[in-house]
Amino acid sequence: MLFCLLYHKILPHINLHTPFANNLSLFEKHCEYIAKNYKTVHPNEKLTQKTNLCLTFDDATCDFFFFVYPLLKKWGLKATLAVPAAFPLKRCLEPLDKRLAYSEKLLFNHTVKNPSPAFCSWEELKQMADDPLIHIASHSFSHSANPKSLSVEIEESKALLEQTLNQPISTFIFPFGNYQIYPQSLVEKHYTTLFRIGNAANKDWSGIGGLVYRINADHLTSIQGPLTFKKKQIFKAYYFLKQCKRYKPIYKKALAPFI
Ligand SMILES: [Zn+2]
Repeated sequence: MLFCLLYHKILPHINLHTPFANNLSLFEKHCEYIAKNYKTVHPNEKLTQKTNLCLTFDDATCDFFFFVYPLLKKWGLKATLAVPAAFPLKRCLEPLDKRLAYSEKLLFNHTVKNPSPAFCSWEELKQMADDPLIHIASHSFSHSANPKSLSVEIEESKALLEQTLNQPISTFIFPFGNYQIYPQSLVEKHYTTLFRIGNAANKDWSGIGGLVYRINADHLTSIQGPLTFKKKQIFKAYYFLKQCKRYKPIYKKALAPFI
């Protein structure tokens, strides 16, 4: 099976009200646990017979470069970083505490329109993109729930990432997990792997109906997080239920003449 975990920010200090985040010291132990118990994979990489983990981080806020990337290197973990292409500055020399302060306020409430120190800069992204541990994905252009132009969000984000990072971009991570606003059929023309949210496991990279499901791993309360035996059984059950739901209209149509 394939379990894809979804993280956002990793910060030295968080409280219950910090949205979409994990505490750095717990996350460090979580990384150690993963390194000792799982194989991490990049999108479309060959899967093993055992449980495969794909770690995904949304939004590319600057904490990823300063806190997460060093831990990934320390433990040899692969990760996918979802970048909204409109927001990186070319270079950022602001002190980290200031950048984190921007980042902590960031809620993607449609007020972010321009490049910001809150995000990894292109210079930082390039350094990570050149490391085989890091797989860069498009997370649209403007991370908008009301995109003005789908071609800018889907195609130009890819073109800008490819041009700036000098590598092919084949993965798209829907902002807000929203695969209805960004039509799947359109995204599939430009990317080979599409991630959504949904808290289910996957059998392989074909996901469910062409979308790879991810499991929320923000606000961890233990080093295992969503990887306990019991929770994994639930995510597997969701996978089978969602598969059945997907094929229900086909069964119904096929059986209609007989019932
Ligand atoms: Zn996002």
